Amino acid sequence: MRIPLLDLKAQYLTIKEEINQAIMNVLDSSVYILGPQMKALEKEIAAFCGTEEAVAVANGTDALVLTLKAFGIGPGDEVITTPFTFFASAETIAMVGATPVFVDIDPVTLNMDLDLLEKKITSRTKAIIPVHIFGQMLDVERVMEIAARHDLKVIEDSAQAIGAEYRGKKAGSLGHAATFSFFPTKNLGAYGDAGMIVTNDKHLAAELRMLRFHGCQVKYYHDKVGYNSRLDELQAAILRVKLGYLNQWNEGRRAKAAVYDKELAHLPLTLPGKDPAGIPIYHLYVLRSDRREELMEAFKQADIACAIYYPVPLHLQKAFHDLGYKEGSFPITEKACQQALAIPCYPELSRAEQEEIIRLIEGVYRG
Ligand SMILES: *Cc1c(COP(=O)(O)O)cnc(C)c1O
Repeated sequence: MRIPLLDLKAQYLTIKEEINQAIMNVLDSSVYILGPQMKALEKEIAAFCGTEEAVAVANGTDALVLTLKAFGIGPGDEVITTPFTFFASAETIAMVGATPVFVDIDPVTLNMDLDLLEKKITSRTKAIIPVHIFGQMLDVERVMEIAARHDLKVIEDSAQAIGAEYRGKKAGSLGHAATFSFFPTKNLGAYGDAGMIVTNDKHLAAELRMLRFHGCQVKYYHDKVGYNSRLDELQAAILRVKLGYLNQWNEGRRAKAAVYDKELAHLPLTLPGKDPAGIPIYHLYVLRSDRREELMEAFKQADIACAIYYPVPLHLQKAFHDLGYKEGSFPITEKACQQALAIPCYPELSRAEQEEIIRLIEGVYRG
């Protein structure tokens, strides 16, 4: 691809010396697991998000599984989430033995439609997992009000939204807990798998620290049955370097997004819809168009990357066949899956490259 969807090589080259040094320091220390880098990263992520606690784990999926477990959610329970997200948001609910329950999305922001949320709550509902899709936060305070009326836990799946804000509050700081993924392509990406849970609940944090390490507080003394899910020192050291650039990188994405917003506004396609109370981080810049096939063909001819997020809504995934949903269950989500197309939007994208992408899209509509 001449222009990729995200250029991790270009990003690495801008911070190469610092990253290499951080890796060498870990190798020299020969501490690889549950060490000082991980502990420092936990403190720095908590400070960044404005929470009391942060617990590092092996990836964003484990972050969700362990949080659900720590809240005691399991068989017989229902957890509400959106069908327009990465599979893990709902997979993890099923993984702990509970039942995912979906709510359709808002046609503007593509986040869970909070007007439809309360109707889905039953006597079995235990938690809500709102997802800040593509890096745009939804109104978590409103979710918390609804949750309080029914005594439910709220876990913000913030995998795509680290650094995003809503009424001045950071993603992850408003729910009972929030999960992050540091998968390489996320806005804050490791060079492997990594994840984090943030919370203001000290009891929950202590529980999560036990669960990630075989139920231990003291090595070889197992208070409960836990799991092995740790963020290693190499990834922690890399993430600590990259965290120092995150605000600048998120700002860089917003600048590119603003150019698309302005220069594509005259075309008959749907640009990413904004919630005026939020500041998004554009994990992805996702257009919606009835002419997606033509657009994709034009991108392919020009050797420029683009990608469908998400081709199949979660309620129609084979793995969830038994939940009994069918086509038409969530029309807004299904329409989004038919129209959505992510185009390159990253800080290192040059002005000339972005100009070329804009002309390409204009060409499809003119032709
Ligand atoms: C990436 C992602 C996850 C999973 O994170 P991993 O680190 O890949 O396990 C969960 N939810 C959402 C919304 C994601 O985008």
